[in-house]
Amino acid sequence: MDPLFVQVDPRDNVAIIVNPEGLPTGARFANGLTLQEPIPQSHKVTLRDLSEGAPIVRYGQIIGHLSRALPAGAWVREDVMDLPQAPALDELPLATAPPAPLPRLEGYTFEGYRNSDGSVGTKNILGIATTVQCVAPTVDYAVRRIRQEILPRFPNVDDAVAITHTYGCGVAIDAPGAAVPIRTLGHLSRHANFGSAPLVVSLGCEKLQPARMLPGASLQASKGGEFPILEGNPYVIRLQDERGFGATVSAILHYAEKRLEELNRRKRVPCPASDLIVGMQCGGSDAFSGVTCNPAVGYAADLIVRAGGTVMFSEVTEVRDAVHLLTPRCINEDVARALIGEMRWYDEYLARSGADRSANPTPGNKRGGLANVVEKALGSVAKAGTSALHAVASHGEKVSTKGLIFAATPASDFICGTQQLASMNMHVFTTGEGSPYGLALCPVVKVSSRTALAEKWHDLIDIDAGTIATGQATIADVGWELFRFILDVASGRRKTWADTWGLHNALAPFNPGPVT
Ligand code: CA
Repeated sequence: MDPLFVQVDPRDNVAIIVNPEGLPTGARFANGLTLQEPIPQSHKVTLRDLSEGAPIVRYGQIIGHLSRALPAGAWVREDVMDLPQAPALDELPLATAPPAPLPRLEGYTFEGYRNSDGSVGTKNILGIATTVQCVAPTVDYAVRRIRQEILPRFPNVDDAVAITHTYGCGVAIDAPGAAVPIRTLGHLSRHANFGSAPLVVSLGCEKLQPARMLPGASLQASKGGEFPILEGNPYVIRLQDERGFGATVSAILHYAEKRLEELNRRKRVPCPASDLIVGMQCGGSDAFSGVTCNPAVGYAADLIVRAGGTVMFSEVTEVRDAVHLLTPRCINEDVARALIGEMRWYDEYLARSGADRSANPTPGNKRGGLANVVEKALGSVAKAGTSALHAVASHGEKVSTKGLIFAATPASDFICGTQQLASMNMHVFTTGEGSPYGLALCPVVKVSSRTALAEKWHDLIDIDAGTIATGQATIADVGWELFRFILDVASGRRKTWADTWGLHNALAPFNPGPVT
């Protein structure tokens, strides 16, 4: 491959190296630029001579200032860049430039499971919710037995999944932050892919009682070996009411079989693409992420929005430094204020814990050429596409609006995914460094930023967006490929690699509240 760089915006004074092995001193680009030193793939090169203190511009935005002068063709390392302040939250433009609605996209459908509450599932799963970590090993044991002994008799059901977590007791459950994990777990327990009221396993003495996790539900409880009729309501098995481990497992198996009979009758039906609720997230990002996979995901996001569906983007700390690009895009000032409110809440949360702005990015991000959180954020928000921002959901809230939504979550991959599961029926995950991440509750489509990763991890990466950097494909090509892949996976016609291997990360609800 000839020496190749990618410049994102004509205003940029740095670009990133495309060649997989990096480039040596003296490598000459088509425009005559010559490297002064070796530069690894995905790291930044200066496009012209820059003086000390000069702004470093990428994505048309300032990502830092140079601490010393650099000639054209030099490697812009993290240690020659300062970290700019995050945009002040008091001076942001509110809904000043909401984009016009994108042209409607008609006729795209997928085969999903329509539920009585109108929600649509993309999988057919028996879900067993838990209120507290104390019961998790018991439920995991029961789920192993269900998979081996009962599930094979119900061929229309994909899996049995325990919703286990570390929350539920030893926590200040009335502290303000407790609302976040509690509502997350409530929404997870009623996930669209479970298709009906959940089976709940409780210990008995825990802080998070079933009625608190499922407010408004008509709960039925076990009575030590008696089996009342289910009648479509959440059913609770309380371990401390049962006569030992064997009796508890028998009760779980008994109700699991009744649920499986119901679930096995579910049928996939044609659903418009507007029933998609897709959560977008990145993890293990590199400097290509903002050039290849994230813009392709953004293109697919626009297609989903045009088809009337819902797209969520999240990860507060990776939106914070690009928030000035998003507040003008809100459909009204209330949405812009809600977005700023989520940024402010997280600023205060981080400040309380003494975290500084270098807490994100990771060592892997830096190895991949991302110098700081500003550069990471500018690439990250490309996942949001170009449509107007329609609504903001707070941590763990269920999204009910169509269009593009900011759903506040931490950037941590497994916490973000868990929080987005409160709403989503499909998940898209972009990566540059590589992550085998997956979720049991809903399919996770993995998109790589570089072809080298897609080739190395040929049995983990579903879509390669690296072809955008080499010019073999356009952002639109990969965006359409991803959109069609999402429809196929949501229909059960194709499987993601994560589901092929059963790579399902543990759930990790965000708990900003105190532990006792
Ligand atoms: Ca993430």
